Amino acid sequence: METNKDIIIIGGGIIGLACAHYLLQNNASVRIIEQDVIESGTSSKNCGLLHFGGIIPLCAPGVIKNEIIRTIQRKSPLHIKPSLDINFIKWLFKFVSHCNLSHMNRASTAKNNLLQFSLDLFDSLFKEYSLECDFRHKGFLLLFKDKKYFKDYNSTIIFLKKYGFNLKKYEQVQVRELEPTVKKEVVGAWHDKHDRHIRPAMLVKAWKNLLIKKGLIIEEKCKLIDFGIHKNKIQYVNTIRGQFKADHFILAAGAWTSQISRQLKLNIPVQPGKGYSITMAKPDFSPEIPCMLYEKNMVITPWKSGLRLGGTMEFSGFDDSLNKKRLAQLIHGAKEYLNIEINNSTMEQWSGFRPMTHDDLPIIDRSYMHDNLFVATGHGMLGVTMATGTGKAICDMIYEKKSQIDISPFSLKRF
Ligand SMILES: Cc1cc2nc3c(=O)[nH]c(=O)nc-3n(C[C@H](O)[C@H](O)[C@H](O)COP(=O)(O)OP(=O)(O)OC[C@H]3O[C@@H](n4cnc5c(N)ncnc54)[C@H](O)[C@@H]3O)c2cc1C
Repeated sequence: METNKDIIIIGGGIIGLACAHYLLQNNASVRIIEQDVIESGTSSKNCGLLHFGGIIPLCAPGVIKNEIIRTIQRKSPLHIKPSLDINFIKWLFKFVSHCNLSHMNRASTAKNNLLQFSLDLFDSLFKEYSLECDFRHKGFLLLFKDKKYFKDYNSTIIFLKKYGFNLKKYEQVQVRELEPTVKKEVVGAWHDKHDRHIRPAMLVKAWKNLLIKKGLIIEEKCKLIDFGIHKNKIQYVNTIRGQFKADHFILAAGAWTSQISRQLKLNIPVQPGKGYSITMAKPDFSPEIPCMLYEKNMVITPWKSGLRLGGTMEFSGFDDSLNKKRLAQLIHGAKEYLNIEINNSTMEQWSGFRPMTHDDLPIIDRSYMHDNLFVATGHGMLGVTMATGTGKAICDMIYEKKSQIDISPFSLKRF
């Protein structure tokens, strides 16, 4: 039996929960400190894809050129609010500098390792516990309206094959045989059968309840204010609800991690990448396979009793207002590709922040300045999918066990 460690996790998103899961398995005492309530954030409102094939980083060759063209055509899902924030400007320059082939190869290998590790751990998790979360294994359908993009995507398919992903090609008519809601304007699709999907709020709730039964303590509405540090060790955290002590601390505060880390004089350049979603009751005629609309960079996820449209990437700081234009883009996108009725009366609109790093790789590491601080953040567009691998890797670090995958690409020292 391992020694009983006392651990505080700052942030009650999916990454914080996953860390708690593996730590509790090791008999640790774990307390999560959450500024809001556990089910309130991005981890509950995202599109719910377990997209294990999402290995290619956002900063890939050609991205900048494509986005400039799409911005001119007013078709880009990317929106950057002009800003004089020096941290954001630096972040943006670094992002651009990563848009090359050598980074794509390195990042894809690193992400693939973490994603496959997470896949195995999710399989074990769902086998061991009946977490009610509308889990389905239907794969993922990438839909194209533009013949040129569909043809050009062949090079990505060849790249993905090197990592063992064999997506199946569907031409115009065949797509509708597979997924009858697809409109005839869609010229083709690729089906990745590896992907699963869940309803994220259900997963967060079910996982939280399981962990509470296993001894997890959750402090909600408990915003962290600052840290008490002696020499190179954190002794306690001050929160709006008082002081909490522990032996080890994990910073898993998603898009807010960068702000918090400044107090610790740690450089963690995570920017909030705002996304939007619209959730509605499931229409009578609904897709059954989650769809990604390639030209729109948006996702449509169907569940037993609901349908979610999600996407856009907006860099505008922590502005949480709902931009009507972006929400309308999601509805127009869905209608362009699928024959579905948008149910206005049951619609829930939402926006939230993805924790974005400029190399699109997460941060999973021990602080180089504090012996007992660990960082788990920066999972960008795939935080749910990478959650189990991240939680296990952090737990192994704390218990000084050899990691089962190469975690060096997720180091803090790279910044
Ligand atoms: C539209 C959209 C669709 C997405 N779709 C998918 C998908 O299909 N599949 C997928 O894998 N990923 C998806 N993602 C990404 C995924 O949602 C994120 O990567 C993931 O939720 C990040 O989890 P996290 O735990 O790091 O951060 P969060 O969920 O943001 O959790 C961090 C927590 O820290 C808390 N916190 C912050 N500051 C403090 C403080 N000072 N004190 C106490 N608590 C604090 C916050 O309140 C928050 O609850 C999507 C994201 C968006 C926006």
